[in-house]
Amino acid sequence: MLHTISIHFVFAFSFINFFVSVFVINYYFCGQINCKMKAKITMLGTGNALVTKCYNTCFVISTEEGNLLTDAGGGNGVLVQLEKAGIDYRSLNAMFLTHAHTDHLLGALWIVRMISTAINRGEYKGIFNIYSHSHLCGLLKMMVTEMLPKKIASEVGKGILINEIGDGEAFEAIGAHFTAFSIHSTKLEQFGYRMEYGDLKLACLGDEPYNEKCADYVKGVDWMLCEAFCLYDDRDRFHPYEKHHSTAKDAGEIASTLDVKNILLYHTEEKTLDTRKERYTAEAKLGFSGRVEVPYDLETVELE
Ligand SMILES: [Zn+2]
Repeated sequence: MLHTISIHFVFAFSFINFFVSVFVINYYFCGQINCKMKAKITMLGTGNALVTKCYNTCFVISTEEGNLLTDAGGGNGVLVQLEKAGIDYRSLNAMFLTHAHTDHLLGALWIVRMISTAINRGEYKGIFNIYSHSHLCGLLKMMVTEMLPKKIASEVGKGILINEIGDGEAFEAIGAHFTAFSIHSTKLEQFGYRMEYGDLKLACLGDEPYNEKCADYVKGVDWMLCEAFCLYDDRDRFHPYEKHHSTAKDAGEIASTLDVKNILLYHTEEKTLDTRKERYTAEAKLGFSGRVEVPYDLETVELE
C-alpha cells in the first residue's frame, strides 16, 4: 500500500517537475532573452508618382510566417526591385493595395502575372491573397481579364484570390491580424491598415496626409508608416499642400500627438535624395522624440 502511494507520489512529483521546467525554460528563453516574433519591412520604392531616380512607394512586410507586399509601384519595375532586394516573388503570400493610382496599382498586374505563371508551373505554394476595397478589386479583376493572357488570368479565383474588404474589416495574413480602414481621401478612395503581430502594432496611412477620423487605428502604434512629400522648409519649392500631401515636419507632429513610438516616411520628392535621410529625419524630429526612419529604396528596417 505504502509502496503504491510512494510510486504515485513520485509520478505526480515528476509530472509537476516537468511542467515547472517547461515553464521556466520558456520564461527564461522567450520572456527574458527575447524570442519575440520578429518582423521587418523592406522598402522596394520610396518615391512619389513621378520619380525616375528611385521607385514608386511600395514595400514588403516580412514576418516569421511570410511576406506581404503593400502596393506594387507603377510597372514591372517592381520585379526588378524584388530581385535587387533578394526577395523571390514566389515567397510573397499576400498583397494589400491602398488605392488605384497608377504609381501603386500597375505593378500589381505584374505580380499577378508572375505568380499565376509560377502556379501554372507548380512553383508556387499556397494561395496568393490580394486585399483592397471593392472599387479597386473590381478594377484589378477587369485589368487581369483584359490585359493578361487567358491562361494566366484564369488563376484569379483559384490560386489567386482578390478579396474585397470593407472599412474597418479585419483579415489575417502572414500570421498577423490586419484591420483595413478608409483614410478618408479627398482624391480617390484609399485604404490604409493597422497590423498587429505579437506585441507589434503598426499603421500604414497610404500616401495622403493623416485624417483624424483614423485616430483609433493609429493611436499608440509602434510604427506609423506615412507619406512626407518634402520638407516643410522646401514647401515653396515642391508645393505639398496643393498636391494633397504633407511634410516631414507634419508627420513628426502628428506622430507626437498620437503617441506613436516610431515613424517611417516615404512617398517623397526625389530632387533631394542625397540629403533626404538626414534632413527629413532632422525636420521630423523637431516635434517628435521617437525614432524616425527615412529609408532608401531597398533598405530594410527591423520593426522593433
Ligand atoms: Zn502615390
